[in-house]
Amino acid sequence: MKAKDFLADLQRRFPNEPEYLQAVEEVVNSIEDVYNEYPAFENENLIERLCIPDRIYSFRVSWVDDKGKVRTNMGYRVQHNNAIGPYKGGIRFHSSVNLSILKFLAFEQTFKNALTTLAMGGAKGGSDFSPRGKSDMEVMRFCQAFINELYRHIGADTDVPAGDIGVGAREVGYMFGWYKKMQKEFTGSFTGKGLAFGGSLMRPEATGYGNVYFLLNMLRTREIDIKGKRVAVSGSGNVALYTAEKLIYLGAKVVSLSDSNGTVIMEDGMTREQYEKVFDLKMLYRGRINEFAQTEELPYYAGERPWRIIKCDIAMPSATQNEIDGDDARALIAGGCIAVSEGANMPSTREAIAEFLKARILYAPGKAANAGGVSVSGLEMAQNAQKISWTAEEVDERLKHIMLDIHNQCVEHGREPDGFVNYVKGANTAGFLKVAKAMHAQGIV
Ligand code: NDP
Repeated sequence: MKAKDFLADLQRRFPNEPEYLQAVEEVVNSIEDVYNEYPAFENENLIERLCIPDRIYSFRVSWVDDKGKVRTNMGYRVQHNNAIGPYKGGIRFHSSVNLSILKFLAFEQTFKNALTTLAMGGAKGGSDFSPRGKSDMEVMRFCQAFINELYRHIGADTDVPAGDIGVGAREVGYMFGWYKKMQKEFTGSFTGKGLAFGGSLMRPEATGYGNVYFLLNMLRTREIDIKGKRVAVSGSGNVALYTAEKLIYLGAKVVSLSDSNGTVIMEDGMTREQYEKVFDLKMLYRGRINEFAQTEELPYYAGERPWRIIKCDIAMPSATQNEIDGDDARALIAGGCIAVSEGANMPSTREAIAEFLKARILYAPGKAANAGGVSVSGLEMAQNAQKISWTAEEVDERLKHIMLDIHNQCVEHGREPDGFVNYVKGANTAGFLKVAKAMHAQGIV
C-alpha cells in the first residue's frame, strides 16, 4: 500500500467529507510501514475495507414540538466495522452533525475499541437535532421518533449505542425506553443507562477519569507529579466536568472551562466549591458557562477557546473536534505546556499534532486517552449479560487497569529509537493490528 495513492483515491471518492478524510489520513500515514510488513493485507485490499464503513443508515426523523409544529431532522447510524465484536459507539445530537463527522467518529471508534482489550467493533450515530433549549417532552418525542427508525438495526449483540455530545442519561433513557417497547425485550441494547435499569456505576465518570488516568501514566514516564500542575480544560459537559473533578482531587489546578460561547478562566485553579456550583449549573439546570463566570465574578472571554488566553502545564481538550489549531498548539508550547491528553475526539488539527510531536511533548490522541468511556460501556455490557452489577470500586479498578493496558500498547508500538513515545503511532498501530488480523482471519466479508 502506498498511503499517498490510497488517500488520493479516497479524497476523489469522498470529496465533501473533510473530517472523515482527516481521521483516515492520520491513521493511514502512521500504519503504512506495519501494513506493508504483511503482504496478505495488501493482497486482500484490507486497507480499503477497513477505512470504508460496513454500512450506513440515514433516515428522516419527524417529530412534533410543544407548539404543535412538525419538525424534521436527519438521523444516521454508521456501522463501521464489527471484526472484533458487535458495533459499538455513541450517538451525537448537535446541529453540526453530518455524515462526514459521524464517519470520522465511527472510524476512530473502531481503533479505540480495539485498544480497550474488550470485544467491541466500531460505530457512531446521531442527528442534527439540538437538545439545547428544548423541553423534556420535545427531547422525548424526538428520541422516540429517532429510535422508531433505528431500532431495527441495533441490539445487544448487533450494535450497542451510547451517549456523546448532546446525549446524556436523559436521552439514553428515552431511547432505551422506546427501543424496549418496539422490541418487546429488555436487553443491554444501550450503554450509559440509568442505574435503576442496567446502567453501570462509574459510566458517567469514566471518560474524564480515564483520561486523567492515562495522563498519569504518561507523566510517570517522565517522573512528573500532577500535584500543583496548571491544567487547561475545554468544554463543560460530561467529559470536561469529570476530568476537572479528578484533577482537583489529585491536587492539580483546573484553570479553565468553556462552552461553545466562550471560556471562563480561574487563574488560581478551581475550588471544590466552584466545581460543585458549575456541576449543578451544567448538569441539573443545563446552564451556560458565562452564568458561572458571572456569579463567581471570574474573567470570561466570549467566543474564545482556552489555549491562547491562559498559560498551562497541561491541556485536556474535552469539547469537540478541531478545537486546537496550529496557532493554538504553538501558543500552548510557547507557554510551557508539557502534555496534551485528549478527552474529545480529534480535537487537534493535523497541524497542531505535528507541532506537539515536533516539540516532543507528551501527546495522547483521543482514541487512546478517552477510551475509558467506551471501556466502561463494555463493562456495562458484560454486567448486563450476566445480570449483575459491580461496585464503583470494582469498575474503577478495572478502568485504571484498562487505561494502563492502553498506555502500554501505545508505548510498545510507539517508542522511537531515541526513547520518545509517539502515542499517535502507538495507538494507531496497536488498534490497526488487532482489527486487521481479525479481518484477515475472517476472509473477504
Ligand atoms: P457534552 O454534550 O456533555 O458536552 C460537550 C461540551 O463541549 C459542552 O460544553 C459543549 O458546549 C462543548 N461543545 C460542543 N460542541 C462545541 C463546539 N462546536 N465548539 C465549542 N464547544 C463545543 O458531550 P461530552 O462531554 O460527552 O463530549 C465531549 C467530547 O468528548 C466529544 O468530542 C465526544 O465525542 C468526546 N467523547 C465523549 C465520550 C463520553 O463518554 N461522553 C467518550 C469519548 C469521547 P455547548 O453546551 O455550548 O454546546
